[in-house]
Amino acid sequence: MVYETGSGPVEALRDITLSVADGEFVSLVGPSGCGKSTMLRVLAGLRPATSGSIIVDGQPVTRPISKVGMVFQAAVLLKWRTVLENVLLPAELAGLNPRRYRDRANDLLKLVGLEGFATKRPGELSGGMQQRVALCRALLLDPPLLLMDEPFGALDAMTRDDMNLELLRVWGEAGEGGRKTVLFVTHSIPEAVFLSDRVVVMSPRPGRIADVVTVDLPRP
Ligand code: ADP
Ligand code: ADP
Repeated sequence: MVYETGSGPVEALRDITLSVADGEFVSLVGPSGCGKSTMLRVLAGLRPATSGSIIVDGQPVTRPISKVGMVFQAAVLLKWRTVLENVLLPAELAGLNPRRYRDRANDLLKLVGLEGFATKRPGELSGGMQQRVALCRALLLDPPLLLMDEPFGALDAMTRDDMNLELLRVWGEAGEGGRKTVLFVTHSIPEAVFLSDRVVVMSPRPGRIADVVTVDLPRP
């Protein structure tokens, strides 16, 4: 995967081979600039792979795909909209009737302890609460694949631990098609070990996978 920039091409990923099984929780760790975010963008079809192939759910990815939910480091909520309206956004963007998703949105908000906040604006919520809203938004359409790019990186340690437990609960609560497949980018090895079935370590040389560590821990 090569970025074209004003000062020439930047190669962000090369020779990557990674297979992730259905329902698996995989963390990507590695130093800044090694290509973790690029990997998620390419998987989501937000950036085209300049060579090689990306297959999600048996289909080659050539453009942004709808079966993925994404959560980024900053919640990027629309601040003039209510919490509920933010969670409903993916339905709107997919051309679906948001009203049909209200119950699901409210259930998700309840699942992450935000019942009673549906009509608030994001600005009235703490950072951790806003990330929960972003998580609900990513889950609205029950995507089989969840891509998370340091979703809790900006939160304090305790809120972060809470959010990780929350995430495991949501993950363990199988959706319609079973457990979601999760790719989780983090700078924190303890976090990766706590959350994952498998930890993929990317090397400082852009794009190289240094090692794949399988973490086999009993689920809480
Ligand atoms: P992180 O390390 O948290 O993934 P970065 O600080 O590397 O994030 O990048 C932040 C943003 O800047 C991203 O949206 C990325 O696409 C963009 N970016 C990073 N490197 C470059 C670059 N060399 N040229 C243009 N944009 C870049
Ligand atoms: P990480 O998420 O591991 O920090 P990134 O995927 O953000 O790594 O970046 C990988 C490489 O690609 C870095 O060299 C970065 O500067 C470059 N890069 C990232 N985004 C862009 C962009 N939008 N334009 C140009 N180069 C980028």
